[in-house]
Amino acid sequence: MSEKKTKKTGKMLNATYGLKNIMGRHFLAIEQAFREGKPTAWATSGSPVEYLYVMGVQPMLPENSATVAAAQKYSKNFIEIAEDEGYSYDLCSYFKTNVGAVVSKAEMSKGGTRKPTFMLSTDVICDTHVNWFQVQAERFNVPHFTLDIPHVVSNTNKRQYDYFKKYVQEQLHGLVDFIQEVTGNEYKEEKAKEVINNSWDLSMVWQDIYNLRKEIPCPISTRDTFGGLFPLFCMPGLKEPIKLYKRMYKEAKQRVDNGIGALKQEKYRLMFEGIPFWHSLKFFSVLEQWGAIIVYEPYTYAFSKYMNPNVTKEYLLSNPIDAMSELLLSFWYVYDLKTRIKKFAETVEQWNIDGVILHENLSCRPNSCGLYDLKRHLMDDFNIPCLIISGDMNDPRKFNDLQVTNQIESFMEILEKSKKR
Ligand code: SF4
Repeated sequence: MSEKKTKKTGKMLNATYGLKNIMGRHFLAIEQAFREGKPTAWATSGSPVEYLYVMGVQPMLPENSATVAAAQKYSKNFIEIAEDEGYSYDLCSYFKTNVGAVVSKAEMSKGGTRKPTFMLSTDVICDTHVNWFQVQAERFNVPHFTLDIPHVVSNTNKRQYDYFKKYVQEQLHGLVDFIQEVTGNEYKEEKAKEVINNSWDLSMVWQDIYNLRKEIPCPISTRDTFGGLFPLFCMPGLKEPIKLYKRMYKEAKQRVDNGIGALKQEKYRLMFEGIPFWHSLKFFSVLEQWGAIIVYEPYTYAFSKYMNPNVTKEYLLSNPIDAMSELLLSFWYVYDLKTRIKKFAETVEQWNIDGVILHENLSCRPNSCGLYDLKRHLMDDFNIPCLIISGDMNDPRKFNDLQVTNQIESFMEILEKSKKR
């Protein structure tokens, strides 16, 4: 048997408390733009939100609002409203949360949103994003622009890649024209440089924070990263979140220098693959009670988008459309199985990971597809203990607390045995 669990759980960085203010100001900016009749846009995660900031459009990310609804226990109600409208039990619960929030005219503090001037989606992560915005653009009667991003896989050749890149570049030019047509605002190079600089710096500090998680004991827990992720989504281009990330980094570095971890006693280092269960974040405290700390989540890392070594800051500043098309074609979160296995194996080694928890997300096909193959390869080829948990990021009806707790207990025993070997 592994050791009895303790009641002690991990400490959040003091700097992370600043997140609440920053996100609060983001929602205020949306309200203000809405009241003053300034251009606003809904954007899906993975879309180049930077273009909105460059062209004076206030972004809103309904996925972010959906997580607010789940964390505050409103998502179930919203999802059921959407199902009453005829949307299936099996559809993405972010989408249904958003439908329910819009239909019930929910306040922003409860996961509601505002009618935007236009919508911007992309299928870089999933086709649900496009269909979701299509449905809602019709409901609000606003224009919708979508970016179609081909998937680069391990056997994509150079000729295909060049074609994909040209295809994406043309669409990005089209996006600029579309925003100008809808809002009357122009694309200005000086502003673009400022936004790109800020977006780049934001991502780099996030990557620095992530690198500190390689340290033993790990100074940062999911309390810092799950919420800390949102500025990358919603504010890539603003200065304010960079300051917050720098404060987080500084504090975490002090912990490292003094040998202090986020947990009092770190026994197991884990990777968590998938979207967190926003309605049941206490699950992550249960892990910590066993001395297990999550030191890497592909989900929160993927959104620090500047990970393609071919895309430098200079390239972005001198040729933003070209560079952005390369970034969209190399998004971490949509790797094919072969690349994903390789990346996971590298990450396990670099972050000293003892085991991997994979979230089989019943809402999300792109997230769950290939999970069993991934698990098999990690276990058979790299001897990494893995656990698959079934659940849903926003629908608490699809998460069985007791079953998950039992699975975790058994997994801890496996980790214990594996460490002794
Ligand atoms: S949860 Fe999955 S299906 Fe839903 S929007 Fe996100 S990526 Fe798409």
